[in-house]
Amino acid sequence: TYVVTEVCIKCKYTDCVEVCPVDCFYEGANMLVIHPDECIDCGVCEPECPVDAIKPDTEPELDQWLEVNRQYSETW
Ligand code: SF4
Repeated sequence: TYVVTEVCIKCKYTDCVEVCPVDCFYEGANMLVIHPDECIDCGVCEPECPVDAIKPDTEPELDQWLEVNRQYSETW
């Protein structure tokens, strides 16, 4: 799955939301998030983000952001 990371906080761009074929972006408290179970790993959103906030969840240090993405996408 892909995850949205801290540089998205207070970001005003929604380019990623527009390109996602499965509409798995959700609005968190102060950032956008990706629902980890709905993301189909297509990678289309990654280059669209003007601030480079979207990363594939391949690094262990992104685990905390995966958790944030999951929580926000299920609560909001
Ligand atoms: Fe949507 Fe594809 Fe990005 Fe996943 S990788 S959030 S499916 S655009």
